[in-house]
Amino acid sequence: MTTVERITEIEAERSKVMSGFLLNLARKKPSTPKGEAKVLFPFRDEDDPRIVYKLSERARRISLKVNTAEREVSVIVPGIRALSKAKKFAREQQDWIDVQLEALPPPQPFLPGASILMRGELYELVSPPGRGRPKVNHERRIINVPAPDAESFPGRVRRFMIREAREELEAASHFYADKLGKRIGKVSVRDTSSRWGSCITRKGEGHISYSWRLISAPPFVLDYVAAHECAHMIEANHSQAFWDVCASINDDVKKAKTWLRKNGAHLHAVGAEW
Ligand SMILES: [Zn+2]
Repeated sequence: MTTVERITEIEAERSKVMSGFLLNLARKKPSTPKGEAKVLFPFRDEDDPRIVYKLSERARRISLKVNTAEREVSVIVPGIRALSKAKKFAREQQDWIDVQLEALPPPQPFLPGASILMRGELYELVSPPGRGRPKVNHERRIINVPAPDAESFPGRVRRFMIREAREELEAASHFYADKLGKRIGKVSVRDTSSRWGSCITRKGEGHISYSWRLISAPPFVLDYVAAHECAHMIEANHSQAFWDVCASINDDVKKAKTWLRKNGAHLHAVGAEW
């Protein structure tokens, strides 16, 4: 059984669906109009990369949806024939789109001189000349990431963050699994946008997947998510029994849940370019 930790509550609160714009398009078979090149969905707007066009044969109308985790706006296109109207609609709604996206925490791009969240603190990114592994100066809150050129810098920072996350999350997973007398099979660290962690139990071993973004949260939050996923090895649900298991191995359940609810969007701003 798969159990997931969703942040859809946050999304549900903040994402707004603009569906007042009824087009009443009669649904037709998806066909490419003659002379038009085949369009591959989803794709980004040429002028505004924060806008993504998504084809939905089930949708009845053109709608806009703010995805706070991806920091982008989806334009739901109800059939290929509605594409040009959908593009026009997105243009007309540009002000609304700007307001929605500007309400999100400012982006923290992986660029030299920028500051990013790590372990709940702001660290400055520095690109020293030369080669070698990234080094962290915790006292001065600096992350030194040597890169041969500007283009490879963001990727290197990202890989560094994922490595740090993996180290911490593996340690935390083993720590909490031990407390429960359970074994960890595998820990994966990914860029999952919709959940902080998930746990599957296979042959008595927990296979846990986490979002690397937890490395940007204060340590008590990362620890809580690890405890939460480990507790799923005992209770594969979110029943009271599950929360009791959680509380028996971690003291910060309430505090961490509140932090994630309030600050989850800040974790999604790390490494964002817009
Ligand atoms: Zn859960």
